[in-house]
Parts: sequence; C-alpha cells; structure tokens
Amino acid sequence: MTTRFERSAAYYERALARIVGGVNSPARSFKAVGGGAPVFMQRGRGPYLYDVDGNRYIDYLAAYGPGILGHAHPEIVAAIARAAEGGTLYGTPTPWEVELAERLHAALPSLERIRFVSTGTEAVMSAVRVARAFTGRPKVIKMEGCYHGHSDFALIAAGSGPSQLGTPDSAGVTEGVARDVITVPYNDLDSLGEALDAWGREVAAVIIEPIVGNFGVVNPAPGYLEGVKRLAHEHGALLIFDEVITAFRVAYGGAQTLLGVEPDLTALGKAIGGGVPLGAYGGRAEIMDWVAPLGPAYQAGTLAGNPLSMQVALAALEILGRPGVYERLEAESAYLADGLVAIARRHGHTVQLGRAGSMFTLFFCDEPVTDYKGAERSDPQKFAAMFRGFLDRGVLLAPSRFEAWMLSVQHTRADLDETLQIADEVLRQMV
Ligand code: PLP
Repeated sequence: MTTRFERSAAYYERALARIVGGVNSPARSFKAVGGGAPVFMQRGRGPYLYDVDGNRYIDYLAAYGPGILGHAHPEIVAAIARAAEGGTLYGTPTPWEVELAERLHAALPSLERIRFVSTGTEAVMSAVRVARAFTGRPKVIKMEGCYHGHSDFALIAAGSGPSQLGTPDSAGVTEGVARDVITVPYNDLDSLGEALDAWGREVAAVIIEPIVGNFGVVNPAPGYLEGVKRLAHEHGALLIFDEVITAFRVAYGGAQTLLGVEPDLTALGKAIGGGVPLGAYGGRAEIMDWVAPLGPAYQAGTLAGNPLSMQVALAALEILGRPGVYERLEAESAYLADGLVAIARRHGHTVQLGRAGSMFTLFFCDEPVTDYKGAERSDPQKFAAMFRGFLDRGVLLAPSRFEAWMLSVQHTRADLDETLQIADEVLRQMV
C-alpha cells in the first residue's frame, strides 16, 4: 500500500478487528483485484468521491447502481432536509407513498399494485413468495450468473445440467431450499424449455434480470425475453423481472418499457431510492392481491414506505423524469464506452463491450459475451491491472470484472474526457 492510501490502510486495520472481513458487503473487498485495503471514502459531491487521504475520484461505481443522480444532488439534499424536519418514521400510511406508487405505475404500467420495502433483496424475496402463493407451486427457475440479493433461494448455484436442481452456493442454505431452485444459462431458450419440460408443473416463476448487470452488462438476444415469457406462461409459471439495477437506469421505465416485454411481477431497488434505502415489488393486481392483509402471503416491514425514503424517491423521480435526461445519459455513456474501447484496441487489448444506457462493461475476451460462461472468460488479471491503474489516478470502478461502469446525471463531458485521458495511460501501460 502506497502513502496515497495510508489512512485507508489504517482504517482497514481497525475495521478488520471489528467488522467481518473489514467490509459491510463482500463486493466492497478488493479480494478479486489482488487484495489489500479497500479505499475508505468520506465525502461525495457531484460525480466525485473523496477518500480519507484527500484523494478525489471520478465515481463510476455509483454505489453499484443507485448513484444515478451523483452525490449530494441539491434537490435530494433539500428533500432529505424537508423529510427530516417532518420526522422520519411514523409507522402509519402517508400521502407520499400513495404519490410514489402512482408515479411508479405511470413509469412501469405493469405495476398495478405495489409494496414498498427497504432493499432489493426484500423486493425479490417477497415477489418470489407471492408467485409461490399465487400458483401454489414451490420451484423457481433463475439464470446462471444473475444476482437477486442474498435471500436463501437466490444463493443457489446451477446443477450439472439444465434440467437439474441446484446446489447451495452459500453455507447456511439448506438442501431443501436448493431442491426448489433450477438454474439455466441466460440467453438460452432451449435450456429453459428443457427445464420447464422436466419440472414445469412445479414451477411458480421464472426470475430474470431482463438486462443483466451482475456478470457485467449483457443484453438479451432479440426475442429472448419474449421467448422466456411465452415458455413460462405455457407452463403456468409467472415471469418476474428483477429490475433492481435496470429500472430508472437503462431507461426511466426500466428494461420492460425499453424492450416492450411486460412481466407479471417486478422487483425494484437501487436507483428508485435516490441514494437512500428503498426497494419495491409489484405487478398484476390479481397476483399482488394475494399479499397480506388482502391475501394469505405474508410480508411486512417496520421501515417499509418510511416518509424519508418516500420523499427522497419522489424527488429522484422528479429529476429523472425531466425531458432529455435519459437521452443525455445514453449519449454520454456511448461517448465514454466507445472511447474506452477505441483506446483499449489501440493499445493492443482485445475487448468486448456490453452496454445498456448509462451502464456498461468492458470484457477482456475474444468473443462477445452473451451468458455467464462467456463473462467468466474475461481476463481477471487484465481487469485487476485496469482497476488499479484507474484507482491510482483517481477513477473509481467496482473492484470486480463482473460489475459495470455507471454514469450519473452529474458527470460532465470534461469528466469523461479526463477519464479517457487517464485510460490512455492506464491501458498503454497494461500488458
Ligand atoms: N437484484 C439485483 C439485480 C441486484 O443487482 C441486487 C444487488 O446488487 C439485488 C437484487 C439485491 O439488492 P440489495 O443489495 O439492495 O438487497
């Protein structure tokens, strides 16, 4: 560790003694990029983060997705202050949750009924429970490499073939849970069809990231999502879109409005909260009406729909709903991503780009990436070298080759040009 990160290293030493692994989420560890102390940040403003050693970073981590408004956006700061003045938790219904539910329905019309929760994990976990309640079936099909939070069902790895049941991917998840989860490759309708032929009458739902953000950014092949929906419905299973990353990121109305495929249920999180904790799930009224107190599927939350999160989310959607926001994000993201690809190729690196709106991944591999196995071929050493090169020069990426660069509305063309200039140096020096 150089002196540039001296204070981060000291905090990490202390953190290791009292916080498991020194981090509050494993993705924050630098394990996948050579280890050592992660950088400890203490201030964010606009597109920048500042660490405890006083270094400035252009932030493309965006807190793994929520940071689409950048840091300390003045309208978000004002919304937080306003909410704090009025008290942050009542344990009763409030006007803001009604307004927010209406706004979300206007953005994603498939959300006929909504429930607010606090995280993406809760949103997905609850959507799956409702799907099981509604269909009276136990099993769920998920796609290899997609991440759906850390509830038990979501931590099941693939079995050895598409018609095989899964195996626990985490200690503490039981074989019983694994027996109810089947994992098939993304972008592969044949495997999905095979799994549904084998288990169809027991399958409550097929859950998918409609545009993948969790093994890098990977788009669905033309017709794939339509095929997933058709196959699921042919077998009496529901389709759940996990739009925790994609909603209000790839487009205001998420992947489902961008690509024109409506699921039965949707899980939301990250960007909808404008930087405070918020998740939501919802979908067709006849399904969601199985949730308590109307129906027998139980789901609750002390912090659910809290006035702080509701008012901040309303402010966030207000900003994101303005004309031109997503057109600009798209143009700026294309500018940066295409610039990075050109620089990488100029310096002799073989790269593939996966991009959807303001999120993208540079894969260091020979073939375009269409599934998790393809993403695994992206060279981890090259990624680690690029990550460190950028970190040393004040550009922050997620410390994993399976994550995305994410832009915010506060990145300017000057920030992108500075990034490209740094990229030229980083990618030139990489072997
Ligand atoms: N679903 C997707 C697609 C995610 O990317 C994540 C988090 O990265 C989750 C669910 C879980 O969300 P949270 O970390 O807010 O629980």
